[in-house]
Amino acid sequence: MAKRVIVAGGGIAGLTAAYRLSKAPGVEVELLEASPRAGGAISTTREHGCLLEHGPDCFLAIKPAGVALCSELGLEPRLIGTIAENRKSFVERKGKLHAVPEGFYLMAPSSMASLATSRIFSTKGKARMAMEPLIPRRKETTDESLADFVRRRLGKECLERMAQPMIAGITTADPEKLSMRAAMPQFPEMEEKHGSIIKALAARMIGGGTGASGPRYGMFATLDGGMQVLVDALAGVLGPRLRTGVRVQSVAREGDRWAVATSAGPLAADALVLALPSPAAASLLRPHDPRLAELLASLHCASVATVHLAFREADLPLPAAMGFVVPAVENRFTVAASFTSRKFPGRAPGGVSLVRVFAGGATRPSDSTLPDDDIRRRVLADLRDLLKAAGEPLFSNVDRHEGAMPQYHVGHLDRVDEIEKRAAALPGLALCGASYRGVGVPDCIKNAEDAVAGLAR
Ligand SMILES: Cc1cc2nc3c(=O)[nH]c(=O)nc-3n(C[C@H](O)[C@H](O)[C@H](O)COP(=O)(O)OP(=O)(O)OC[C@H]3O[C@@H](n4cnc5c(N)ncnc54)[C@H](O)[C@@H]3O)c2cc1C
Repeated sequence: MAKRVIVAGGGIAGLTAAYRLSKAPGVEVELLEASPRAGGAISTTREHGCLLEHGPDCFLAIKPAGVALCSELGLEPRLIGTIAENRKSFVERKGKLHAVPEGFYLMAPSSMASLATSRIFSTKGKARMAMEPLIPRRKETTDESLADFVRRRLGKECLERMAQPMIAGITTADPEKLSMRAAMPQFPEMEEKHGSIIKALAARMIGGGTGASGPRYGMFATLDGGMQVLVDALAGVLGPRLRTGVRVQSVAREGDRWAVATSAGPLAADALVLALPSPAAASLLRPHDPRLAELLASLHCASVATVHLAFREADLPLPAAMGFVVPAVENRFTVAASFTSRKFPGRAPGGVSLVRVFAGGATRPSDSTLPDDDIRRRVLADLRDLLKAAGEPLFSNVDRHEGAMPQYHVGHLDRVDEIEKRAAALPGLALCGASYRGVGVPDCIKNAEDAVAGLAR
């Protein structure tokens, strides 16, 4: 008899889990998604001739799981990279945008020469960064915060002016709490192996690049019709096995099966995959293992607001770049902005500049709860100040992502180890999704594939 598996949650993790299980011999899978559409954080729409990404607009091409899944689904011809001549970003300093120096990788330079003319840092800040190769390796192997790591190796100014805004631009995280081992493991590894981040990055440059520009797509890839193309392809393979508008309400053990109460009635399964944000998984698992539920509920999530704004190009002539980030010390409403129409081809009609601004996040939680008009007004004021935007936007559109940004606090990986151990003790249960081992789309795909590998056997 076929093994019946229910996957709860139709974001990219749940879709991948269900897709993999649909290919496993002897497995019957059903994917239940509470909302009327699949994709979770991923959502692409077309408005006024523009392609709007309401969630992720791309994924890291250098992490293989994303590109591999697209290829397997026949989407390789539809994968596109960022526009090569615009692969540049800016950081604000006192009301002006300055280009991130060549060879800078997230938080550290690969050579000091490229920093010489940069106005992002003071002479004192540059001198402190130049000392990094002389700073001894940390002896302890325990986790530490991103802020502690960067202050220790590269100095306070590098933290404030580069590392903090770069990381906030990705996960809106508070650097004083963000776990270095969970969020940026490559940097402690560089320290361990090379004794210096600058030396490690320089060695990588000599050996063929920092990974900042992969062979075909650059560092980031997306799909010609937006990230929704990947969701639609997975949903297409699953067909009626994907059921939207069905919420999992509770789960109980009945003999050696799972009894699943849903908004569409009771279901039963031999195995259960919870591809849900950790608070939702916590409430379902509380009756089975209170400690597991407590651990799941302790994982933090932040909320963010994003705003698309389209302008006549004459009113907002965007620089040839992908966007900018704003250090928290600038105390500005905008956390980061993407120059969408410069980043990828086909995102806006000719003569239109499309930008997407991020606000709120872990360090400015109340900003994302303001009324739409206030968010719009404050974002617009920042664009007028920093980019000299003139006139009124052709349209603007505010999205809210409540609790959608998992925050990996110091000690996160230890908590996840314990969560996985306890989940494995419940028969036929697997957990996956952005809450655990990486928030990026390729991380969620890999996490889902790893989680169901055992169940499919
Ligand atoms: C604004 C934003 C921008 C981002 N940008 C990028 C980027 O550029 N690149 C990148 O790689 N990553 C990015 N990310 C991160 C990435 O998109 C997410 O981490 C990832 O998509 C999360 O996938 P998931 O399947 O784990 O969770 P989700 O997408 O949150 O899916 C979980 C699903 O579970 C459903 N659900 C909840 N409770 C129940 C229930 N009881 N029963 C049934 N269903 C339920 C929800 O409706 C939801 O659809 C971004 C995230 C956001 C919010």
